[in-house]
Amino acid sequence: MSDGRIDGQQFREWLRYHLALFPGMKPAFLDKLPPSGSGTELEKDYAEQMAVWYKQLNWYTLKELEAASDLLSQQEVGKKTSLGYGRHFAVVAKIAKSEVRSHGSIYPKQVYQDGEQVYQCDLCRDEGCRIVWGPVSIRYALGRGPIEKLKLGDDGTLYQTTVACTCSTGRGYFARQMTTFDDKLHLPLHRWEDGAQRYVIGQMEDAAEQGRLVAWAEVRVKESGQQQPQQQQTNIPF
Ligand SMILES: [Zn+2]
Repeated sequence: MSDGRIDGQQFREWLRYHLALFPGMKPAFLDKLPPSGSGTELEKDYAEQMAVWYKQLNWYTLKELEAASDLLSQQEVGKKTSLGYGRHFAVVAKIAKSEVRSHGSIYPKQVYQDGEQVYQCDLCRDEGCRIVWGPVSIRYALGRGPIEKLKLGDDGTLYQTTVACTCSTGRGYFARQMTTFDDKLHLPLHRWEDGAQRYVIGQMEDAAEQGRLVAWAEVRVKESGQQQPQQQQTNIPF
């Protein structure tokens, strides 16, 4: 690519680099994705999920992404609760933008009141983006796949994706890179742990959460008359 931004092959190269820094990520996360090369419907799901991640990162050069992975790896050292693997892609993109390219912080200044952090946006807590169910999950919820196979949580989180928040932080940067949150198209998947300022997705395996997704998908299909409420298809070959 003439502007140096990564292509599909370089994405895989970056991923190898990143996995070397986070050796737990492959067994605990990537290996739980549908297998590549199986020639089945699941293989399509794998390609689609990879394409979603690729889209988050293909604004950067391989060097920038590797530097961002290095920084993330340094930031994670000694942390009590580490970032969920499913969030690595969006976070590497954020670090590449705000720290590697040195365009200054893309986040609002942190404000505290009585020792508690106050957010300009409670929906994303000033992260600028939100985690939603991925298109594959929604397809499964509509009966086009075995929803009971969706295994969620940090230990093999499947089929989530990231969209830009509708607040000014989201509009200022993330909206140029990804779809903006739309409650007709996206169902938020994240929860917050009180006080810890981090996403919690570990409880998402419970049947009630899957039931919520199914109910939501059915309502959206009825309302819109569309077969598939969330469209985020790409044609990047993986
Ligand atoms: Zn927001």
